[in-house]
Amino acid sequence: MKATITVLPGDGIGPEVTAQAVRVLEKVAAKYGHDFTFHEALMGGIAIDKTGQPLPDETLRSAEQSDAILLGAVGGPQWSDPTAKVRPEQGLLGIRKHFELFANLRPVKAYPALAQHTPLRAELLDGVDMLFVRELTGGLYFGPRQEQGDGDSAYDTEIYSVPEVERVAHVAFRAAQGRRKQVTSVDKANVLAAMRLWRRTVVKVHEDYSDVALDHVLVDACTMYLVTRPASFDVILASNMFGDILSDEASVLAGSLGMLPSASLGSSTFGLYEPIHGSAPDIAGQGKANPTGTILSAAMLLRYSLGLDAEAKAVENAVEQTLAAGARTADIAPKGGAWISTNEFAETVLGCL
Ligand code: NAD
Repeated sequence: MKATITVLPGDGIGPEVTAQAVRVLEKVAAKYGHDFTFHEALMGGIAIDKTGQPLPDETLRSAEQSDAILLGAVGGPQWSDPTAKVRPEQGLLGIRKHFELFANLRPVKAYPALAQHTPLRAELLDGVDMLFVRELTGGLYFGPRQEQGDGDSAYDTEIYSVPEVERVAHVAFRAAQGRRKQVTSVDKANVLAAMRLWRRTVVKVHEDYSDVALDHVLVDACTMYLVTRPASFDVILASNMFGDILSDEASVLAGSLGMLPSASLGSSTFGLYEPIHGSAPDIAGQGKANPTGTILSAAMLLRYSLGLDAEAKAVENAVEQTLAAGARTADIAPKGGAWISTNEFAETVLGCL
């Protein structure tokens, strides 16, 4: 198939990790007979330096003409002045908003070989393979708010509409159909009205997916289950705030921030794919960045935007084989043990592919 991918390397280790993911996509194209075109564009701090804007129009136009976006990371100390008019993160928020990317997908997988890098006992990590589907453009983070400067009260409001919950619930059920067919919806329906609407709507959407099992867990209980029985989850569907908190809690199960991919999707197949980590300025330019999160984001791009599931699985298998063979970047190497560079790690993935 023919596809166009906009690549936004961004700042810090962003260019290092996206370069490796592009190599993997090029290898996939050669092996499976696809024709991928890559357009590199500016976003984040580097875009501010070159154009004065974190998300230049030219970048948006390029993205609009492509099937998907692959992003590294944005930000760094040189652009972190909180009083600055333009900040790198505005690029990220701007692009999510422009394309109405309302569903954030974050798979979390535990690799037995990396158990020593997690705070849990190895036997609890056995079989951990879950997918968070987080609502990304509504709820508490976007509701009416009032901040009283020096006053003695302030509020934020959680509002969800039925269509907002429906569309993200469909994403979760469809994702579950391609996995272990189990959705756990997280809410606080015992206390919050918006969460009662959430549960009611999810139950209704479930009627279209008789092949998928649905259960409901209160968010407070979910925080416990994520560490007491993490392997029991398949797809976890959550609101903006609950998904934000729970997916960060679960991320420690993978052993390093550098391991985890994500996808942000809207109502079409177009999506934005990026590792969950930031620009890691402390290790930029040293060959220490773990490219796994970005390579696995490229696998998600193949699956969700291009519909190439076999190719996505091949990339995921290649990453697993690479880890099983003992290849380790600095962040996942045993204490004082040997590690290989970003480039060498990606070479091993390419070899496995
Ligand atoms: P960070 O994720 O960049 O780094 C946290 C720690 O994890 C650092 O010690 C870093 O070296 C390590 N780390 C992160 N990714 C790694 C990888 N792939 N391989 C090996 N080690 C890795 O978070 P931070 O330090 O809080 O933020 C740094 C900058 O990134 C800030 O400017 C922040 O605003 C920005 N940021 C951007 C995004 C994004 O672009 N989506 C997300 C988070 C933070």
